[in-house]
Amino acid sequence: MDGGTEHFEEVTPDIAEAKRKDQGYDECDVWVEGHEGSRNWKACTKNPGHIGFTPASQFSPDLLPKPYNEDPDVIELVRLQIELTVRLRVHYTSNARPDGYSLSKFKGQHIPHTGSGIVFVAVYKCPPPPPENENYKGCPCQFCDSAEPRAPRKPEWWSIGVRTAKHVSFDTDETKTAIADLDLDFPGQMVSKIQLHGLYSATSHLEGDIARIYFATHDDAIGQRLKMASKRFDDLSASMLMKYRDPERFPMYTIICSHPHGCSKQVSVGPRTGRLIVNYKVENDQPDEEWTEHTYTTPTCEGSSGAPIVLLGREKISGRHWHMISHVHRQALPSGEGHSGMTLECFVNTDLPIDSKAQSRPLPI
Ligand SMILES: [Zn+2]
Ligand SMILES: [Zn+2]
Repeated sequence: MDGGTEHFEEVTPDIAEAKRKDQGYDECDVWVEGHEGSRNWKACTKNPGHIGFTPASQFSPDLLPKPYNEDPDVIELVRLQIELTVRLRVHYTSNARPDGYSLSKFKGQHIPHTGSGIVFVAVYKCPPPPPENENYKGCPCQFCDSAEPRAPRKPEWWSIGVRTAKHVSFDTDETKTAIADLDLDFPGQMVSKIQLHGLYSATSHLEGDIARIYFATHDDAIGQRLKMASKRFDDLSASMLMKYRDPERFPMYTIICSHPHGCSKQVSVGPRTGRLIVNYKVENDQPDEEWTEHTYTTPTCEGSSGAPIVLLGREKISGRHWHMISHVHRQALPSGEGHSGMTLECFVNTDLPIDSKAQSRPLPI
């Protein structure tokens, strides 16, 4: 691995354009040196003027369709989705990307690309010092690794899990060079005061294009805040199971929060248009679970890859309700629809108490 953020290659408009085009329908963005994302935002042909996007700082319940805009739980859920969404800047393209895969023509190169993701967990880490743990080295993050003058690694840190698309950060070689930017909520804001340093990639699915990657922060207040917000987001998502079960009365909408063109955070809302059951099995699949992907007309742009999707309304198929909680945006189809990555959906027995099913078996991705 020869990644790292110190060896940027010069990114000319031609190189940025070539890398951006080498991703099929996926929606990462690539900046031109010195222009960041504002150049791509202005030149966007997919959503000129970005009419369907609302800056995160201007979100209000009026943006949500009825009757969801009158439910304090839905409003809080979307506010948490906004808070937990991060911009991802990945400064290296892994040699492990298969030929023909997204961005694979640029593997081994240090041309940064951008995407989006959502914090799903935050855990405080403070391993015991030697001699209890002979392998103890302190915080493994890139910041501690490259600190100059040479300083000891920090003994404690927060490990922050982010869910995104696999094509945004393919493996640990890429994640080690990644930065997750928080709180870029205001129009025109490009530099974040809160930056998380990439550690490693954990579970992922190539076909399903979904990944869990981990970051570090040394800021205890940030760690505590993300821990509380991600827990509350999970609890509220689970509480949605019992609501809006009648598709006739409650049409399905998808709320996407992302960083189009790597610029500041935007919220977009649109109808969910389709659900695809994926022919995919893992060893411990349960009969009441299905791997699925979704389509929607919610606006997205390059830079939205990996963005979290909140689904309002419940699926009812053959008399059973399905619960979708952790899909991320993957690509823009030629039809104009958005297309999510794959994840596991649970059948929810809505006759049972609310927490008996959904909270007992967390989704693996
Ligand atoms: Zn755009
Ligand atoms: Zn560190």
